[in-house]
Amino acid sequence: MDSRRYQSELCRYRMIFDLHTHTRFSRGGREITHAKGTLEQTVEEARNKGLSAIGISNHGPGHITYGMPIAAVEELKRQRDQLQEKYSDIRILIGVEANIIDLSGDLDVSSAQYKQFDYVLAGYHYGIFGKAPCSAALLHGANWMWEASGGRRRLERALQAEEAAREHPVLRGRLIERNTQCMTAAILKNRPTAVTHPGDKMPCDIRAVAKACETAGTWMEINDSHRDLSVENLRRAAEYDVTFVIGSDAHGPKRAGCFAEGLARLLEAGVDPARVVNIAEKTR
Ligand SMILES: [Zn+2]
Ligand SMILES: [Zn+2]
Repeated sequence: MDSRRYQSELCRYRMIFDLHTHTRFSRGGREITHAKGTLEQTVEEARNKGLSAIGISNHGPGHITYGMPIAAVEELKRQRDQLQEKYSDIRILIGVEANIIDLSGDLDVSSAQYKQFDYVLAGYHYGIFGKAPCSAALLHGANWMWEASGGRRRLERALQAEEAAREHPVLRGRLIERNTQCMTAAILKNRPTAVTHPGDKMPCDIRAVAKACETAGTWMEINDSHRDLSVENLRRAAEYDVTFVIGSDAHGPKRAGCFAEGLARLLEAGVDPARVVNIAEKTR
């Protein structure tokens, strides 16, 4: 959607913290360039935008192409400690965007590894195969086909007309049901700080996901780089007692602290911005 429609309202708000950013890092001496920019560049951008805290949340270790190995976390934390001494006006956090794997509810960050991070986000991505690679590959394939064949559009139409059960003739119900179970099990089992871009790359019953977030106290992300939560799903999620968080999902320093697209979707959905934990009205 075009956030310029909400320009005057957007100007009234500022972002307090951003927990969803990616940086480049090295794995076994090899540079992983999934995202651009260093930790320090991201911190500097966040300071420029007046944020009180910035979190780095690289992808969990299970992702086959750009997962951050757990061994890299200590190095990242050392860098953070040095930067924290240099910049006392912003809090720097080291988190992770863990991968939702399968119906077990497991993430690719174990409960023992949880403690190494200041916070854990959880999201669904292709490229994670876990202990049952064949069934994971089938799920990714089905989700990819659904997305590529215009399933998202059809699902939105079907849901609006309350005809969800008659959605895609081949995939109907089954895929949505499976994805929803993956999401809700991961949320209830791990209680992550937030679930990232719910609905992205996978159709799911957002009301069931919102209910799980309500139970677990997990925030639901409005992603500023992806289109989820979508306007329609924001309306559905808002029926539950959930807190929203906007994540820039920056893959380069300049995008850190960006929130206009996400907030515009919230406004379009008619949801009260006071329900977003990390934005505030400017005082002047
Ligand atoms: Zn993500
Ligand atoms: Zn991300």
